[in-house]
Amino acid sequence: MADIQIPKDTYDIVIVGGGPGGLTAGLYASRADMKTLLLEGNAQASQITMTDMIENYPGIPAIGGFEINETFKKQAVSFGLEIKPEQVSRIHRVQLGDVEGWEVVTDRGAYRTLSVIVSTGAAWSRLGVPREEEMVGRGISYCATCDAPFYRNREVAVVGGGDTAVQEAIYLTKFASKVTLIHRRDRLRATAVLQQRAVANEKITFAWDSTVEEILGEDGVTGVRIRNVKDPGRTEEIPVEGVFIFVGLIPNTDIVKEVVDIDADGYIAADRDMKTSAEGIFACGDCISKSLRQVVTACGDGATAAHSASLYVDGVRGQAY
Ligand SMILES: Cc1cc2nc3c(=O)[nH]c(=O)nc-3n(C[C@H](O)[C@H](O)[C@H](O)COP(=O)(O)OP(=O)(O)OC[C@H]3O[C@@H](n4cnc5c(N)ncnc54)[C@H](O)[C@@H]3O)c2cc1C
Repeated sequence: MADIQIPKDTYDIVIVGGGPGGLTAGLYASRADMKTLLLEGNAQASQITMTDMIENYPGIPAIGGFEINETFKKQAVSFGLEIKPEQVSRIHRVQLGDVEGWEVVTDRGAYRTLSVIVSTGAAWSRLGVPREEEMVGRGISYCATCDAPFYRNREVAVVGGGDTAVQEAIYLTKFASKVTLIHRRDRLRATAVLQQRAVANEKITFAWDSTVEEILGEDGVTGVRIRNVKDPGRTEEIPVEGVFIFVGLIPNTDIVKEVVDIDADGYIAADRDMKTSAEGIFACGDCISKSLRQVVTACGDGATAAHSASLYVDGVRGQAY
């Protein structure tokens, strides 16, 4: 059989995203001797770098969010992973000698590759109120599973009225002494069973028809000022040490939405091997359709995606076992 011709500068795997999912994929791919490039973006940092402390990553009792991501990066680079701080704008199909592959276009260039792993994460919608951004990790959170234990016996607020907000408010009552659920309407949008549980929970009180106008506190959150939407002259200050905001999660999937199947909420549909609907494109971490978005699940997905991509590349290069 004649050798398959593929241009020399072709990567085996290009990974898009420099969070836990992408970096774990990078570690596994480089260690499997794949010629791998990771494009970590330059517009929005990994979500995990936004949090002060993680205490639910197995084997590491407590570590800073930025620090754990740097540790992942160092380990992956030690196996030969190449990393560039470039933002991907487009991924499209191209012919690479005798085979088909992908071109990944960034703000500074374009890279040709046999396969792509998309690990672009997601972003929690902001409320858009003053001081919200600077208080992230200092009382403002977008993840109760991550941060609830820091609020044991403290009073917190939850903003939102959908399934996630109500579910997380109920979860927070395991730790917090009181949870005030702030919602801009006079009834919840969450499913009936969640609503019933929330109403029956003695630790949850409701601030109906209200929007958060300001986050209070200097070095950390000390409260929120809310305004009644039906009676705009009426404001109230609620003393809380934590504010959990659940007004929508937006997956960063714009760059692939024309190329792979996306679910109704905008997440990439990937199977258990992290394969997408497009040949040679794999996905992992918070940008895929799944039920738990955490560092440990992103890392697990990343390892699987790299393994699947490596098998795929071996197949394309005609080296399948
Ligand atoms: C405040 C907060 C606290 C948290 N606390 C915890 C916790 O305690 N424990 C826990 O397990 N989880 C926690 N999480 C969740 C955790 O951060 C995520 O589950 C995890 O970071 C997902 O990893 P990921 O690699 O899928 O995505 P991310 O970490 O979000 O990384 C996405 C990467 O993709 C890059 N990117 C996006 N678009 C592009 C593009 N077009 N081109 C190039 N690069 C791009 C970004 O720059 C980033 O590098 C927390 C999240 C938040 C917001």
